[in-house]
Amino acid sequence: MDGYAGKVLNVNLDDGSGKEFLVPEEIVRKYLGGKGIGVWLLYRGLEPHTDPLGPQNVLIFMTGPLTGVGIPAVNHLAVCTKSPLTGTVVDCYLGGDFAVKLKSCGYDGLILRGKSPRPVIIDITEGNWKIREAEDLWGTNVVQAQELLESKVASTACIGPAGENMVRYATIVSGEHTAQRGGAGAVMGSKLVKAVRAGGRFETPVFDRERLKGPSEAIRERIRVTDTYPREGTAGNLAASNQKGVLPTRNFALGSFDNYLKISGEALRAQIKRKGKGCPGCPIACTGEVNLTTRSGTIRVKSPSYQPLAMLGSNLLVDDLEAIIRNNYLCYLLGMDPVSLGGTIAISIELAEKGRIDLPLHFGSAREIGPLLPLIAQRKGPGDDLADGALSLVTKYGYRELAMVVKGMEISGYDPRGCWGQGLAFATCPAGGTHVGSMLAAPEIQGRPVALPGASSAGKVRMTIFAQDLFNSLGCTVACFRAAYSLVRVPSWVEALPGSVTSLFTGRAPALSISFVNFFDYYRAISFVTGVRYDRRVFLRTGERVLNLERLFNLREGFTSKDDNLPLRFIGSPMREGPTAGKVVPITKMLLKYYRLRGWSEIGIPTVQHLERLGVEERP
Ligand code: SF4
Repeated sequence: MDGYAGKVLNVNLDDGSGKEFLVPEEIVRKYLGGKGIGVWLLYRGLEPHTDPLGPQNVLIFMTGPLTGVGIPAVNHLAVCTKSPLTGTVVDCYLGGDFAVKLKSCGYDGLILRGKSPRPVIIDITEGNWKIREAEDLWGTNVVQAQELLESKVASTACIGPAGENMVRYATIVSGEHTAQRGGAGAVMGSKLVKAVRAGGRFETPVFDRERLKGPSEAIRERIRVTDTYPREGTAGNLAASNQKGVLPTRNFALGSFDNYLKISGEALRAQIKRKGKGCPGCPIACTGEVNLTTRSGTIRVKSPSYQPLAMLGSNLLVDDLEAIIRNNYLCYLLGMDPVSLGGTIAISIELAEKGRIDLPLHFGSAREIGPLLPLIAQRKGPGDDLADGALSLVTKYGYRELAMVVKGMEISGYDPRGCWGQGLAFATCPAGGTHVGSMLAAPEIQGRPVALPGASSAGKVRMTIFAQDLFNSLGCTVACFRAAYSLVRVPSWVEALPGSVTSLFTGRAPALSISFVNFFDYYRAISFVTGVRYDRRVFLRTGERVLNLERLFNLREGFTSKDDNLPLRFIGSPMREGPTAGKVVPITKMLLKYYRLRGWSEIGIPTVQHLERLGVEERP
């Protein structure tokens, strides 16, 4: 089928064997690529209740039909596995050029199963692959590892010490990009795979190159003219979050931070020396570069985005921007997710304050955090406990209600009391507390592409379902979610309406509002690359199908509707002051409507009729 290399490489690390196989065309049509095929392979390839860090777990790297056909911002790599942090299905995404390079080897994807007897890297060239011993690389950080593996023709995806030591929120890194949430790096480490290096010359067949120019140019132009990201990238959103009362502060006890200006996008902008490199071909380049003083001199590092600023900054009452930059860079070097790390440190401080654990940690003190990070990555001393995440800590030391997690994943940096749609999306996200599969925070907090009222349930259930389906479809396309801020749009006259008007309209007529949201460049591009006609309905259905399959995966693992919940702070403990004073998320009411509109039973189980309508063959 056009748009695909036509085969997936399946490597068994137990004995070093490997085979290529074809994903059936019927499945490719249903699940498109990226996350969709990744989740299908995971569901089919994994026995229920497999230990996520055991050899039986599989780690899946998937590209999509648009990978490598010359369109910017659709070239991420989807990584799917069973998460060691949550025990659920998890998907995370790697920017840079690794996905393009993997597909240039003639593979749509790579599956790693089993466990190597000693540390290795996997070298993939066009139609060929080799496992090489890599004892000398074990223990290196991600910069050292990539330098040692540098090649003119290949790209590398690797883990740092945190992945090697199976920190449950370890990342996979390529260049400056990280596949961040859910601990895929720990799964790679459990298999003793330090890195995968790929590069070849295979060219993806395209069904109609001439007609592809239309959506391809439209995407390029739209990205060029949209100033979605200022110099400081998503860090620019921090002030809006603070103003709306959703900036996580003191382990989410509060929604605004008195000293937010010291760590805001504006403060960061003053330090940014130049725009970052971004992904190849993407003019957005959504981060900047800042100077960082180290023992060996001043180096240039990627500036922190909104999430690390919130989770390593305000959520810990840290107003020292340089310390946040340093700690965020340490997370990158060691290969750890700064969001989960921030959530884990926040609960550790609460436990230390209550005398449950003995750690020299305090809210507002940045100096104590830096030295702890290598201990976590190495699982040494007190770092061992923290390496298992927030839920593990409260399971061991008590105060379950203070762990700000959903399904065991530390929640991203938005307080749901001020963004109820995002709250529902957190509660129902199959991977747990990540905003990545919905991005409802964008309209609710930043007013993009249109403003939605935050602390309101009007129209929110339909909006959440739509956003989840759309972002799942984008995950199958392996499109960059940040660039989607430029490419998912509404007519300019809608954009120009005052927030109060769009809020009212969206609340009263959510289905009509959704019909204004336009993302046709994506599905037109897929149609011209694959030769299979995708329209708005077919595209959204793909995402819905994947979400249902993820639901079935989690049900099979023993998760129930009880796990579609938010921490007590968000549903039973309103703030006394600030923009969200007195508000809590009415999650039970929203969930019942959500299940009904999803075509699920009252206890959140997809009905057979609905699965049949979607063409999902698997059953609960
Ligand atoms: S917006 Fe940022 S992450 Fe996305 S493709 Fe462009 S540079 Fe890469």
